[in-house]
Amino acid sequence: MGNSRNREIAAGLSRIADALEIKGDSGFKVMAYRRAARVLEDLPEDIARVAIEGRLREISGIGKGIAQKIEEHLDTGTMRKLLEATAGVPEGLFDLLNIPGLGARTIHIAYRELGIRSLADLRQVISDGRLASLPGLGPKKAESIRNGIELFERAGRRIPIDRATRLAEDVVAWMKQGPPAERISPAGSLRRRRESVGDLDILAASDGGSELVEHFTRYPGVTRILARGGTRGSVHITGPEFEYQVDLRIVPKESWGAALQYFTGSKAHNVRLRSLAKDMGLKISEYGVYRGERREAGATEEDCYRALGLDWIPPEMREDRGEIRLAREGDLPRLIEEKDLRGDLHVHSVFSDGSLTIEELASAALRRGYEYLAICDHSQSVDYAGGLSPARLLEQQAEIDRLNRKLKGLRLLKGAEVDILSDGKLDYPDEILGGLDVVVASIHSGFRKNVTRRMIAAMRNPHVTAIAHPTGRLLSGREGYAVDIESVAEAAAEFGVALELNACVDRLDLDENNLRRAVARGGRISIGSDSHHSGDMDMIRFGIGIARRAWLTKEHVLNTRPWKNLHGRREQGPSR
Ligand SMILES: [Zn+2]
Ligand SMILES: [Zn+2]
Repeated sequence: MGNSRNREIAAGLSRIADALEIKGDSGFKVMAYRRAARVLEDLPEDIARVAIEGRLREISGIGKGIAQKIEEHLDTGTMRKLLEATAGVPEGLFDLLNIPGLGARTIHIAYRELGIRSLADLRQVISDGRLASLPGLGPKKAESIRNGIELFERAGRRIPIDRATRLAEDVVAWMKQGPPAERISPAGSLRRRRESVGDLDILAASDGGSELVEHFTRYPGVTRILARGGTRGSVHITGPEFEYQVDLRIVPKESWGAALQYFTGSKAHNVRLRSLAKDMGLKISEYGVYRGERREAGATEEDCYRALGLDWIPPEMREDRGEIRLAREGDLPRLIEEKDLRGDLHVHSVFSDGSLTIEELASAALRRGYEYLAICDHSQSVDYAGGLSPARLLEQQAEIDRLNRKLKGLRLLKGAEVDILSDGKLDYPDEILGGLDVVVASIHSGFRKNVTRRMIAAMRNPHVTAIAHPTGRLLSGREGYAVDIESVAEAAAEFGVALELNACVDRLDLDENNLRRAVARGGRISIGSDSHHSGDMDMIRFGIGIARRAWLTKEHVLNTRPWKNLHGRREQGPSR
């Protein structure tokens, strides 16, 4: 795992190697710097200590010249060689080294022959054909660099939680086929279940570090190995739409809990823990909780928190938002779990724009162990999504009745996703709405027009169960409605209408902050998958992740109740 000083010096040495290569140097000198950087990254002890004890030269991979430079860095905080090597090399060229398929040699040639200084310059010389005309390059190579640039730019983006989760699960499954590890788990923001993550962090407890890292770098889909050593591996994995950086760290079994805690974060939470530890005369690190030299805890997260006088804190809460005080007082909320949901309140069938029949939806719901499922196809004015005319709605309901007669253990609820029209009226008359078990009202047009007023008007209708995707944002790009979510939340609490947490991963709407606002006003939340296709119902897990990040408990969520009690606002249950 190294420490920050080791990493800083390693980064300096790599930078020297990069600069030399860009300037056209190659061969053993460059390789020596790279090797030394790698050795330092993996070094388990503090390099300063090694230097003080005069053992620098004993480390294999660090020669005399480099040992001197390390000592210079320890004395002065920098290395003259670094300044000398990087002098005159445009800063932008270093970034180009991160582009898959683009080596320092090519950067050197393009710099020398064409004077490129940045990514923008590189793009230019690719598109005007000048790069391809250089000796030893050609159109094929230029094209592959263009692809590399695309990948590089995607790599800078955050990965949506569903893709990140699937990849992490797949990597973990792959690791389980390799050399045995005591424990293995994703860490980082994935484990905290944020709506998107940067890099993926995977942690393993094992004594056989380098074999495990070797196996990790052979994961199918690895397109680039950034680092590999005895305690750490780092790779790029190229997926269909993203390039992911995945880091594997290996820790000894007795540090597992401390390392998992440390690498799960968040930073703010860990800073708070460290200062709490300090106040208690303890020290907490990725190796354990220590009193002086003595390790008080480290093998499990529970032990580490307990050593600090705290209950174990669910990862989703670790954001320094007051969770540490609650953990000390034994007052942490019991967060909602996926199994608390008794049904899904928002799915589409082939009657509107879904691709599954109601029967197929029912089997999916049964597989998930649900007690009920609300079929909520679109209402009449949404033609682009196959909105149902009243006559068509009757056909759909006849199919629901037919299935309910034969289904065991699952109740299909008659529902609709009813549009809130531009005047705030609903897209079906009250006679129809009154016959439905579940009405989710939502806006699909007029995103800028009186949205708040329209939503509140819709909530006054006694048949409305919930407002679906209340802000309309799409994670892939679209900004949401011009809506005042505070006023909507207030009205929702007053009228007893739920606000939806739409678990579709492109929506996750309400988001965690708005969820907190809504429940702070006493509002109730309904969680729906907004399923359109096979497998979509399982996205509910990402909604649960967000709900937990917002500290929601079972009591906050409408569809943890039996279906007969869904309508808090009415005396009687849903019709039929
Ligand atoms: Zn919708
Ligand atoms: Zn929908």
